[in-house]
Amino acid sequence: MPNVKPTAISKPLIAVLPGDGIGREIIPQAVAVLRALELDVVIEEAPVGGAGLDAKGDPLPPETLDLAMRADAVLFGAVGGPEYDHWPRTKRAGSGLLRLRRELGLFANLRPARLFPTLVDSSPLKPQLLDGLDLLIVRELMGDAYFGEPRGELAGSQPRRFVNTISYDETEIRRIAHVAFVAARRRRRRLVSVDKANVLETMAFWRDIVEDVARDYPDVEFSHLFVDAAAMALIKRPAQFDVILTGNMFGDILSDATAALVGSIGLMPSASFGSGNKGLYEPIHGSAPDIAGRGVANPIGAILSAAMMLRLSLNRSHEADRIESAVNCVLENGLRTPDIATPATTVVGTARMGEAIVNALSVGARAADIRFAGSPKSQPTYEGGNTR
Ligand code: NAD
Repeated sequence: MPNVKPTAISKPLIAVLPGDGIGREIIPQAVAVLRALELDVVIEEAPVGGAGLDAKGDPLPPETLDLAMRADAVLFGAVGGPEYDHWPRTKRAGSGLLRLRRELGLFANLRPARLFPTLVDSSPLKPQLLDGLDLLIVRELMGDAYFGEPRGELAGSQPRRFVNTISYDETEIRRIAHVAFVAARRRRRRLVSVDKANVLETMAFWRDIVEDVARDYPDVEFSHLFVDAAAMALIKRPAQFDVILTGNMFGDILSDATAALVGSIGLMPSASFGSGNKGLYEPIHGSAPDIAGRGVANPIGAILSAAMMLRLSLNRSHEADRIESAVNCVLENGLRTPDIATPATTVVGTARMGEAIVNALSVGARAADIRFAGSPKSQPTYEGGNTR
């Protein structure tokens, strides 16, 4: 027998970038949950955002970018805060995240919003409006006013004038539209594309291209909504939505509104992808300077982001199910962080909520325990939209 050395199979690498503010409080809870699963993975941490500025004078230090490039998945907290606002715009904490998204080619941001049945009272909406709320926002992440050029101050303008450019090319629209249609096929096969085609040329172009892509998916019921009408429909009848496809800025805004519907922005996870399986996973909220350092932030959005990471980048659906079941179990048992507290529930801080979820994992909350109030229902049209 030839003496062949076995090839070492490298363990999946998870880059953990907690960032700033409550990012540094919630991400340790998500990491504790991952560690409790005893997965055969390597977890490495690095500074980003304000933490990167503090450590290296750069919101995305080269070592952090290198780690993120090498990793199979990135778990991200949040960046920014008033203490970093004096840095020039290109070095602001938030620019670290924008650069990271660009460097990793992450153009698709998936933001699922489901309602834990036990949190119906945490939503500002009447319970009857919440029945069946289970939607996915597919937000384009690399275009729009966030990246368009020219941007900034127009040299020599008097009075001073600043511009940002809403810009999309055909390739950018097509690729995000395909992501959204494929996602719709895996869900309830309904998709609404949100734009502002009545006013903005870029958005009229968006609408034309999405219409064209829709022809490849005749099995998906498809319609358009203007963003203002979509904002209203989200509040009036959120359960009518399945997949919402939209651009970078509208997606940013509509997902915060959606987060309020499910009880708190602290509950919503997200996943961002480019062309491969590698993803960046982060709760949709920011660094919440108003509550940072008080140990009261809700870690569930971060923990559910870790679950998405296991399912979508690391092929560990079973463990992802376990995490979601554990979260549900803890909520069913009445534990609440202050943002979702209601009468007759037990209010706990970030660390206690994280510990309870880890404990629920170890006692084996079953996947069957999870009952999101998201039972698919047939609702053929979108209020105010033109169904194809
Ligand atoms: P934010 O999401 O940080 O906070 C909005 C509100 O939601 C605040 O009242 C906050 O206390 C609350 N909140 C957020 N997350 C929570 C949680 N997990 N538990 C309980 N309550 C929570 O948005 P903001 O206040 O507009 O921005 C604060 C900073 O975060 C800014 O510097 C902004 O640029 C940055 N930001 C970063 C990201 C990101 O890193 N992806 C996203 C949005 C904002």
